[in-house]
Amino acid sequence: MTRVAITGAAGRMGRCLVEACCAAPGLTLAVALERPGSSIIGADAGEVAGIGRTGVTITDNLQGVADQFDVLVDFTRPEVTLGNLALCRAAGKRMVVGTTGFTPGQRNELIDASAAMALVVAPNMSVGVNLCFKLLETAAQVLGDEVDIEIVEAHHRYKIDSPSGTALRMGEVVAQALGRDLKTCAVYGREGVSGERKRETIGFATVRGGDIVGDHTVMFAGLGERVEITHKASSRLTFANGAMRAAKWVMGREAGLFDMQDVLGLR
Ligand code: NAD
Repeated sequence: MTRVAITGAAGRMGRCLVEACCAAPGLTLAVALERPGSSIIGADAGEVAGIGRTGVTITDNLQGVADQFDVLVDFTRPEVTLGNLALCRAAGKRMVVGTTGFTPGQRNELIDASAAMALVVAPNMSVGVNLCFKLLETAAQVLGDEVDIEIVEAHHRYKIDSPSGTALRMGEVVAQALGRDLKTCAVYGREGVSGERKRETIGFATVRGGDIVGDHTVMFAGLGERVEITHKASSRLTFANGAMRAAKWVMGREAGLFDMQDVLGLR
């Protein structure tokens, strides 16, 4: 049995992670963590997740439970994840990171740590989205520079980063397939007299509202036809189940930075 620690256990994703972990064969929920000072400290993780008692009490001290788990699943915030990264690295633990919104500098910290520990980092752990990454690569290779590429994403009103990590990853996949650098060809929103569209750009548009779990569409718009690849998530459990798959997979790795393409064998 792999012993799993889940941090951010009372969050929107954290509660689904607790549920998915308790249902996953081969995994056992060993530790649940929340923000120091949270009123939820001391509560049963399963009761918070709405699945009944698990006997795992939510704590706020990762250091204090370091000998009780094998892999930390972290869907919180970049600065929290990086604090946990240092601790897991020192304690020889593996990590599955679903947190999004890392700056390039923060991303480098993940890369540095992966020399000494095994990490799965993915902005979207759903199997469907990761299949879409593969389809996008093919579409970009076939449609090439003849089309205009636009990425539209929609999420719930509470999401704090934009565009979503998934939309950015979709942009990277397409840019890479076309030999472009997303840093120089991305256009984030347009307003006023923005001029005619330059073919080599990749446009991003963000929608925020209500309880939308996560929609992404990549549009390849040519003259006379348009190809759209769309993914719509209707439940956060899809991400949580992907994270549990990653938690099992990463136990077979000693060090390195991996993503869901590695976990799903799509490379
Ligand atoms: P949320 O705000 O509902 O949950 C975050 C939780 O982390 C909160 O409960 C908060 O109290 C807790 N937290 C904050 N500081 C902490 C600390 N120091 N120690 C422990 N817990 C702490 O957010 P969410 O919607 O669950 O999303 C969390 C992250 O996961 C975001 O970055 C989001 O973009 C990302 N996400 C990733 C995927 C994926 O598949 N990779 C899917 C959905 C969301």
